[in-house]
Amino acid sequence: MPRKKGVPLRRSCGTMAVHMALLEKNPAFRARQFRFEQDVARRRTLGVSVAKLKPVTVDVVVNVVYKTDVQNVSDAQIKSQIAVLNRDYSAKNPDRSKAPAPWKGLVTDSRVRFKLAKVRRVHTSKSSFGFDDGVKKASTGGVPPLEPQKYLNLWVCALSGGLLGYAQFPGGPPATDGVVINYRAFGTKGSAEAPFNLGRTATHEVGHYLNLRHIWGDTEDCSGSDYVPDTPNCAGPNYGTPTFPTVTCNNGPNGDMFMNYMDYVDDKAMFMFTAQQVLRMRVALEGPRSGLI
Ligand SMILES: [Zn+2]
Repeated sequence: MPRKKGVPLRRSCGTMAVHMALLEKNPAFRARQFRFEQDVARRRTLGVSVAKLKPVTVDVVVNVVYKTDVQNVSDAQIKSQIAVLNRDYSAKNPDRSKAPAPWKGLVTDSRVRFKLAKVRRVHTSKSSFGFDDGVKKASTGGVPPLEPQKYLNLWVCALSGGLLGYAQFPGGPPATDGVVINYRAFGTKGSAEAPFNLGRTATHEVGHYLNLRHIWGDTEDCSGSDYVPDTPNCAGPNYGTPTFPTVTCNNGPNGDMFMNYMDYVDDKAMFMFTAQQVLRMRVALEGPRSGLI
């Protein structure tokens, strides 16, 4: 099928670029990130059973920043995105059954739920935004977050450079806290376009917002880590719809867990979080993101 002009061919997420810039200019953020890793490690040694975690609900503010009518996504499209987040984060997504046999037992309900609290619509003269947080400031054609300590702010807008979205990790500046999603990869209807029309760009980016890393650890030489012990070490991002097993970094016989939400595959090829990813999310929700719950 021919692709419409401007549709990204493969997933691209700006989170690590934003993260590296923030680490550079904000030593306090760097210190908080370091402390967070210590908290996760401590929590892991306690042997917490994620199946016993109490479900928590995160209230969501959706900021629609639009220039054209198609970018002004409908309430129905917004609801379709919230529904996907709830399905994926509770492991009720039907495609979880496609998890390869060795990893079926790792498919985990995050015990995080999402509730739409408010939709804000802002007209802009900007044709598109980058990952410089421009969409989060009025002076650059965007809108600041609404009470980011209390709400998960999602911005929906046109993004340039084939970017599907980006997020800010916990512990960063409130003025830019939240998740940005390309209107062409948001929800499951309206302006959402294949292969990113199953709402999983937000599933991935909210994962970052709750402190999950890309499963390849953001280096392409097997040296990086996502700080999650139940996702295999792997070399780099997987794209499209890979075939199991895809072996890299001596991680055979099962290979890369490319069906994890924190890889770069197409929406229909990702369908699981693991127990240890859920633990990381919980430490974020009880620590730097405790205002949400
Ligand atoms: Zn990402």
